[in-house]
Amino acid sequence: MTHQHLQLLRNDLGLLPRYVAGRPPRASAGWKLSSNEIAVPPCDDVMLAARGALASANRYPDITATTLVQRLASHLTVDAEHIVVGGGSIAVLQELLQTVTDPGDRVVFAWRSYEAYPIVTRVSRATPVEVPLLADHRHDLAAMAEAVRRHGARVVIVCNPNNPTGTAVTRPELESFLEAVPTRCLVILDEAYREFVTDDAVPDGLELARDRPNVVVLRTFSKAHGLAGLRVGYAVAPSWLADGVRAVSLPFTVSSVAQAAAVAALEAWPKQREIVGEIVCRRDEFVAVLHARGVEATPSQANFVWLPWSPVVVALVEACSDLGISVRRFGKEGVRITIGEPEALAAISTALPLGAAR
Ligand SMILES: *Cc1c(COP(=O)(O)O)cnc(C)c1O
Repeated sequence: MTHQHLQLLRNDLGLLPRYVAGRPPRASAGWKLSSNEIAVPPCDDVMLAARGALASANRYPDITATTLVQRLASHLTVDAEHIVVGGGSIAVLQELLQTVTDPGDRVVFAWRSYEAYPIVTRVSRATPVEVPLLADHRHDLAAMAEAVRRHGARVVIVCNPNNPTGTAVTRPELESFLEAVPTRCLVILDEAYREFVTDDAVPDGLELARDRPNVVVLRTFSKAHGLAGLRVGYAVAPSWLADGVRAVSLPFTVSSVAQAAAVAALEAWPKQREIVGEIVCRRDEFVAVLHARGVEATPSQANFVWLPWSPVVVALVEACSDLGISVRRFGKEGVRITIGEPEALAAISTALPLGAAR
């Protein structure tokens, strides 16, 4: 790139971190436990619906995704006017920020949390304020509320359960946080992993959002519903905000194939929930195995586990690489392992005694 070309770029482009996607395994026969995906393909009904929609791929999709929005409304028992869908919940998050922030407005979130947050904040020309996690790898909600006040923040994002640590905040904690945050600050509850939550103390964001005018919930079809490749996510928001998001969003970001698949996925949810239940059992077993071998793993409410960095984890990462298993490493902070194929998790468990020999 010549100097002239660089002058064409926006000034703050260098500030944008790049999204690091989970890598595929090195060998094609390996396992990918690096992107928190569901390890099984969509069920026949979902495939059939998606294939059916292909037949009218010459036409633009339904711009308001009417059927999907209506089915979601009854699935979640909320009014359809509160729902906005988009090309993945990352896209909806960016649209939310573009709807509410002016240049330089502060957006508070925990760190380490979901790596898209600093990116979509900068893209929206807002300024990120990162609040370190507590020693137990959970959100420091008191410090986050304080940061909101100190910076007069426009938005605060709570990732519950948190990616990549799998930890969650409880209902009383979140309720007092919502009390402390002024209503002129929008609270975004990112519940990408809501369906994997088994601890009753972890609140359903939709219930908390119901009577609060400044709370919005983000959910996705990418994780529990197993449609990461089709890109569908949504927000449940107050209707004035949902309307604002529709004003800024790019038209047609949810393809007709994705809409049809998502509708079918909602119908198939009772069966899919069984798969989610198996993943949750496997998660708890895997954490128990790790603990039994003396490896620290945070208690997870999602479909992945977080192993804070340690000499044992260094050995574990090497063992995974030898086994053809890709996991997601975050520098020297820790490693996130998706609860994917049982064979892969068994292989890791078997390899552990070697890894644990410090
Ligand atoms: C995976 C994930 C998302 C979902 O992203 P999509 O764009 O819907 O695929 C959102 N938030 C968090 C925290 C995630 O981990």
